Amino acid sequence: MADNSKMEKVVSLCKRRGFIFQGSEIYGGLAGIFDYGPMGVELRHNIKQYFWQKFIVEREDVYGMGAAILMPEKVWQASGHTELFTDPLVECKICHERVRADQPEAISDHEKTHKKEKVEWTEPVKFNMLVGTKLGAAEKTANQVYLRGEITQGVHVNFKNILDSMHTKIPFGIGQIGKAFRNEITPRDFLFRQREFEQMELQYYIKPNEEEGMKQYEYWKQFAFDWYLGLGFKKENLRLRQHAADERAHYAKDAWDIEYNMPSVGWKEAWGIHHRADWDLRRHTEYSGVDMSYYDEETKERFIPWDVECSGGVDRAFLFVMLEAYTEDELGGEVRGYLKLTPKLAPVKVAVFPLLKNKPQLVEKAREVYQKLKKEFGAVEFDDNGNIGKRYRRQDEIGTPFCVTIDFDTIEKSTGVTVRDRDSGKQERVSEKDLVEYIKEKVL
Ligand code: ATP
Repeated sequence: MADNSKMEKVVSLCKRRGFIFQGSEIYGGLAGIFDYGPMGVELRHNIKQYFWQKFIVEREDVYGMGAAILMPEKVWQASGHTELFTDPLVECKICHERVRADQPEAISDHEKTHKKEKVEWTEPVKFNMLVGTKLGAAEKTANQVYLRGEITQGVHVNFKNILDSMHTKIPFGIGQIGKAFRNEITPRDFLFRQREFEQMELQYYIKPNEEEGMKQYEYWKQFAFDWYLGLGFKKENLRLRQHAADERAHYAKDAWDIEYNMPSVGWKEAWGIHHRADWDLRRHTEYSGVDMSYYDEETKERFIPWDVECSGGVDRAFLFVMLEAYTEDELGGEVRGYLKLTPKLAPVKVAVFPLLKNKPQLVEKAREVYQKLKKEFGAVEFDDNGNIGKRYRRQDEIGTPFCVTIDFDTIEKSTGVTVRDRDSGKQERVSEKDLVEYIKEKVL
């Protein structure tokens, strides 16, 4: 399978099987905006759940929070975004379309639309990506606010609130998941570059010294990388790459990306691990007038902590997981395309089938098994439509790790049910009483 056809196949599967739809599609859609369907919303939820579990729930030193999307202009002045959150923009002199100057693929794709005409571009200008709006009913007094360009600032502005309410000590972290908005000049590559997307982040506050900074930075770099591998990637398709000095965001003292080798595109950023030092808390102290320093009871020192940030895109992880999982092979003499998802991410964990639709005793037993499994796993489907082979294919396509079939022997001889494995296609007979444990062991 050619790499570019893999992306096309994933995009088409996403729509056909209810993972992703173009935002407001019946009105022509909105560039860079997508909606998640019934399967997609489950997979996305499972990615976020895995983040929350590993970065927050399982740790003693990390708290979770959920900040608002709308924040006043002052926040973004303090964070540097109103001034520095820009991308270089060029305009085509023929049709006036605007494209990001530092994206060669976007430039060459646009040039192709003009076929033989020679495209001339304007000089690059800085384009600010913050998405703003006004809040308040009276025009004169309405406030300029911004939909957050990164979820990070919602954490920093609450640093003191968390410190005071949780009585915590440094080092500690605050994790968050939520929407961010960027007026990207050229949204492209499906979910990769959107204008509305979700981030999952950890801000980890530490003592401001080089040795501690290095130690924590290395630790979180590896932690984030291992977490990403846990989404089901092959090791050779992920790497860590350090930013060159001129590539770093305005706040970063050091920055590394976890990158994914995207089919037909190449290495692309999946996560950023940023050493933000005291940039954010220092700037918020200056701009808000509220002292964001920390008093260390043990050393009797007062200081502004440094921040090590792990920042990942939920939708980008979703896309990369889909690209990695999409597999074609031959099973039973037929070519099949399926999602080899790691079971913890699969939107449906198990599907239950009666062998035949028109035999009430099979249907009744199958529904009983279905209810039992649904109580346990939630994400369970019942399907009695078409022959068994077709039902397997439908489940393979959405990545369901196991299918359970109830046949006459289940009822007449009490020999249990057939459990079929998605990847190998192999079938096993499992007794009814062991079924829940058998599946639990493999999918959770
Ligand atoms: P890029 O260089 O690709 O524009 P960035 O370095 O600006 O990304 P960060 O500001 O570090 O990205 O954001 C952290 C994470 O948020 C990224 O690693 C990515 O997963 C996700 N992200 C950023 N911008 C987008 C977007 N436009 N659409 C989807 N996800 C995004």
